[in-house]
Amino acid sequence: MTLNVEQLRIVSYPDPVLRQKATPVDPADPTVRAVALRMIELMHEAEGVGLAAPQIALSWRIFVTNARDADPVDRVYINPRLALGRDDWCTEEEGCLSLPGIHVKVRRPHWVRIEAIGLDGEPFSMEDDGFLARIWQHENDHLDGVLIIDRMTPIDRLATRKLLRDMRVSAEAGP
Ligand code: ZN
Repeated sequence: MTLNVEQLRIVSYPDPVLRQKATPVDPADPTVRAVALRMIELMHEAEGVGLAAPQIALSWRIFVTNARDADPVDRVYINPRLALGRDDWCTEEEGCLSLPGIHVKVRRPHWVRIEAIGLDGEPFSMEDDGFLARIWQHENDHLDGVLIIDRMTPIDRLATRKLLRDMRVSAEAGP
C-alpha cells in the first residue's frame, strides 16, 4: 500500500467518507502504524481530544485519543470493540473536528469497556466512566459513520440547522 501520511488532512462534514462504515485493519501493517502516528500529530495540531481514521478520509477502524489525565496521554486503538453500560446515562456537550463551530448536547452511557489493539500490536482492554468513556463512544461512532448531529437533541437540531446547511452548500460549491 502506498500512502503519503504527510498529506493526510482532517476532512469536514459533509464529506461522504464520514458516513461510511469503516473496515478492520491489519495491526501488523507498518502503514497502519504510520497512519496512527500521523493521526496523533493531526489531533494535537487541531487541539482535539480524539480523532478517528474516517476523519482523515481513511475508512479504517482506528482512532486515537488524547485525554490529559490518562496514562499514557496519547493512545491508539486499532479495531476497537466497545461494551456499553446501559444503566447510567449522562448528557454532555460535544464538539467534533469534522464539524467546526458545532457544539451539541449528546446523551450517552457513563460506563464503557473497550478492547482494542495498541500501537505496539498488543491487545489491551480498559474501563472508564468519565471523559475517556465519552471520547471512546464519540470516536467509535465515527467508525460506524455516525456523527454527533445524529445524536443531538431537537433543540440543537434547530439551533444548528442553518450552520449545517451552509456547510453542505459551500461543499457543493467546491473549494
Ligand atoms: Zn468527531
